[in-house]
Amino acid sequence: MKIFNSLLNLIYPNVCEVCGRSLVGNEQVMCLHCMADMPLTNAHRDDFSIIHKRLASTMAVERTAGYFYYFKNDDYTRLIHRAKYSGRPKLARQLAWRFAHGLAEEGFFEGVDFAVPVPMHWMKLIRRGYNQSEEICHGVSAATGLPTERLLVATRGHRSQTALGGLGRWLNLQDVYRVRDGAVDFGGKHLLLVDDVLTTGATLLSCRKAIYEAFPNAKVSVLVLGVTRLS
Ligand SMILES: [Zn+2]
Repeated sequence: MKIFNSLLNLIYPNVCEVCGRSLVGNEQVMCLHCMADMPLTNAHRDDFSIIHKRLASTMAVERTAGYFYYFKNDDYTRLIHRAKYSGRPKLARQLAWRFAHGLAEEGFFEGVDFAVPVPMHWMKLIRRGYNQSEEICHGVSAATGLPTERLLVATRGHRSQTALGGLGRWLNLQDVYRVRDGAVDFGGKHLLLVDDVLTTGATLLSCRKAIYEAFPNAKVSVLVLGVTRLS
């Protein structure tokens, strides 16, 4: 087993994902220094958080949780980039697991029925091999027992969002998401929409709209790992 672990360390060195130092003792994913310096949002403690503000619309959002602020070129952005683009779904699960543990202690999941990942179009899913939002749901489920429900589907791919402003992103995502065929009735349920990063909020609002249209009286809360700072 020791040899196996040593081999594994050669392939996936056991280093801090933020600063690159070797991890010691019980440290996982991050060293204690980087854990302590993490730019936490603590949005879940705020009745009208930075996430609520970005999602402000005619459709209500109940609770919001965002793990940390996501600055361009910041060391902590590596966590999400690796989880998303570097074939590291386990990293997304580990981060979510850790975040969800803390949230659960503060009662964030009380009354929530299901975690719902923001879906990925199937062609993109084949290219990437996994949907990071679903991996985050699995991490939340492992920490809290909250079941994951693939309620939504992405009906088409969409143009890259990065070059678009807020309104452009919103228009670009119109009708991309819908509730999957044959879904049971989620009316009156409390759903936790889960995504990796909140930027303008266009993606989550489009998903919120799809849920609202299918189940007007479903409650929706939101959980993301990263929250970008808008300039
Ligand atoms: Zn570190």
